[in-house]
Amino acid sequence: MHALEALAGIGLGGTLALFAGTETGGALTSPGGWFLAGGRLAGFVGAYALALLVVLVARLPLLERAVGQDRLVRWHRTVAPWAVGSIAVHVVTITVGYAEMSHLGVVSQVTQFLFHYPDMLAAVVAFALLLVASFSSHRIARRRMRYETWWVIHLYLYLAVALAVAHQIHVGVPFLGHTDSTVAWLALWVVVAAIVVGSRVVVPLVRNSRHQLRVAEVLEVAPGVHSLTLVGTHLEDLAVAGGQFFQWRFLAPGLWWHSHPYSLSALPQPPYLRVTVKALGDQSTLLSRLRPGTRVIAEGPYGTFTADARTSDRVLLVGAGVGVTPLRALAEDLPERTDVIAILRGTTPEDLVHRDEMTEIVGARGGVVHDLVGSRHQVRLDARALRRLVPDLAQRDVYVCGPEGFTRAVVAAARGGAVPLERIHVESFAF
Ligand SMILES: Cc1cc2nc3c(=O)[nH]c(=O)nc-3n(C[C@H](O)[C@H](O)[C@H](O)COP(=O)(O)OP(=O)(O)OC[C@H]3O[C@@H](n4cnc5c(N)ncnc54)[C@H](O)[C@@H]3O)c2cc1C
Repeated sequence: MHALEALAGIGLGGTLALFAGTETGGALTSPGGWFLAGGRLAGFVGAYALALLVVLVARLPLLERAVGQDRLVRWHRTVAPWAVGSIAVHVVTITVGYAEMSHLGVVSQVTQFLFHYPDMLAAVVAFALLLVASFSSHRIARRRMRYETWWVIHLYLYLAVALAVAHQIHVGVPFLGHTDSTVAWLALWVVVAAIVVGSRVVVPLVRNSRHQLRVAEVLEVAPGVHSLTLVGTHLEDLAVAGGQFFQWRFLAPGLWWHSHPYSLSALPQPPYLRVTVKALGDQSTLLSRLRPGTRVIAEGPYGTFTADARTSDRVLLVGAGVGVTPLRALAEDLPERTDVIAILRGTTPEDLVHRDEMTEIVGARGGVVHDLVGSRHQVRLDARALRRLVPDLAQRDVYVCGPEGFTRAVVAAARGGAVPLERIHVESFAF
């Protein structure tokens, strides 16, 4: 982790050095000097933060394994306001600075930019796309739009980044007549582009042409919940751990253009893989109607919700409804000697997805499975209830998966039961 932070810090240091290397004291004292220097600094910081944003969610296998997608997405969200904020400061201060330098009003300066500076129109479009993507990611906006709509808007960010590079090189004072800094800056963007194309296109293409996944069978396992068994080749080479997920794209009408994350609900049994899906919205509902033979593209595996994350051989698995899927695969991956207790939560007994399989796997390790069935009012899952079911709770690693509200409640209960944070592992079915 520290290595990644150090790497990001070195990158920022290099970016600031590029900025400082071309600034002069004389320029500061000239009309608009401070605004221009501030604007260039904000531009460099904003552009570097944008590069980080893209790399954090590029699904780079090394980063995914070391950090996990859910944490990378959280970092992405933390860096995003800095990127957007710095670029907004850049736009305002550079405009005011140039206006002062040229003794123009701000509106005239903007007109100058648009019609007389190379690549500025592209830069303005890039800024507009950035603003739209960031506003659409705000909680209030996200709640009002379909996931796919948000996702398509977010795709335009790649276009925004590409459109912005040209004005940096062709108008940016730090680059005009400075070949070294131009080469260094372009190298940054070439590396970012290579990471994205490599991780999001080349790796999945190579892997999927090797595994040739297709739908073999679709089976209803609980009301509104279907297990999809997939068949493929060379699955024995798939380096996947129980608890991990893939981004799945099903090449069928209405489904081929977007991928969704589903955890494996059992360890691979070559030539078969299995996922179990609850019909929640349009895509997950359509999956129940997939025909055998449908081609499947899988990106991944991703996630650090695995047996390797545990710190002891005493484990508690807590899953609600379809949230049991990664726990079912993870349980199978636990060494035989592991002391396992599982708690399955559902409103009705039918909601306890893969209950029999879980009982068999946990039983084979000498463990017990507790079913907690009933409404939220009927079933309390606070620290006291958890300790009653699991007296040695504080000595266990706790793995929890389910809807966000449920995972939050179980984490609070585990903390209340003196389980240290580093022993609590959460998989939330929403990023
Ligand atoms: C790491 C992870 C593992 C998951 N594993 C399983 C599983 O094993 N079984 C299962 O039934 N569900 C699982 N889910 C949830 C599943 O991905 C969503 O229910 C599904 O994507 C919903 O899509 P939809 O079009 O049917 O519904 P929508 O109505 O489009 O979406 C419903 C909700 O699902 C989320 N969602 C939608 N599309 C995506 C997407 N492409 N990426 C991330 N989130 C999305 C959104 O937050 C949205 O609020 C998992 C989610 C994550 C993040």
